[in-house]
Amino acid sequence: AVEIHEVQKWYGAQQVLKGVSLTVRRGEVTVVLGPSGSGKSTLLRVVNHLEKPEAGHVRLAGELIGVRRHKGRLKELSERAILAQRGRIGFVFQNFNLFPHLTVLDNVAAAPVATGRLGKEEAKEVARGLLARVGLGDRAGAYPRQLSGGQQQRVAIARALALRPEVVLFDEPTSALDPELVGEVLDVIRDLATSGTTLLVVTHEIGFAREVADHVVFLDEGRVVEQGPPAQVLDHPSHPRTRDFLRRVL
Ligand code: ATP
Ligand code: MG
Repeated sequence: AVEIHEVQKWYGAQQVLKGVSLTVRRGEVTVVLGPSGSGKSTLLRVVNHLEKPEAGHVRLAGELIGVRRHKGRLKELSERAILAQRGRIGFVFQNFNLFPHLTVLDNVAAAPVATGRLGKEEAKEVARGLLARVGLGDRAGAYPRQLSGGQQQRVAIARALALRPEVVLFDEPTSALDPELVGEVLDVIRDLATSGTTLLVVTHEIGFAREVADHVVFLDEGRVVEQGPPAQVLDHPSHPRTRDFLRRVL
């Protein structure tokens, strides 16, 4: 599980996360919804310690992320230890963020080689399997610019899986895509969900959330306003902010 506990995050004088707590249970899909600027991306970045929270903490499988307890206080881990933890957390961004100068195969094989986890040939073997899994077994030798947005995002998902992460975070994985390419990416995420991969997904795709999520969290102005099973949060929201938001995105 990923446990986010009372996380607060400030940018200068602006408080972006105001004590956010939520649990992403193992094998489950948690979807985070919320208006622009509500802190969704910041929350994901706190989970893998790309942002350090001013208060609160995150645990992965019980282990503190980015920090350790020292004489009753939290002390930052070494860069090396943080990188090791990040290897346990996959991250898929809105804009794919593939390495443009590497082939699709090398994009997926890069992290296992760089971390010394796998030898080059072994990593390529794993990468081929992952590319086949996202439906791109025949595009291993292509460069990112030769692929559609939907294909690039599927490569990004394969890359996020290459280190066999314990959880995969998605930050609006389909919002940069042309509408006709959204489905193929959601299909891949749905396949991960079905196979029991633990997922934390920020998305505005309400239909997808209703169908795939085990747990839905509505974030507004840095606070969890409402959370629960999709049938509750999406179909019978109890908070006016949630109702308002759903009316606007549906
Ligand atoms: P969107 O739906 O538009 O992606 P979001 O819910 O992901 O929005 P965040 O990107 O987490 O929102 O941003 C929350 C707030 O924090 C916004 O007001 C944003 O301007 C601010 N913010 C985010 N990153 C930084 C930063 N690096 N420095 C200063 N302010 C930031
Ligand atoms: Mg965002």
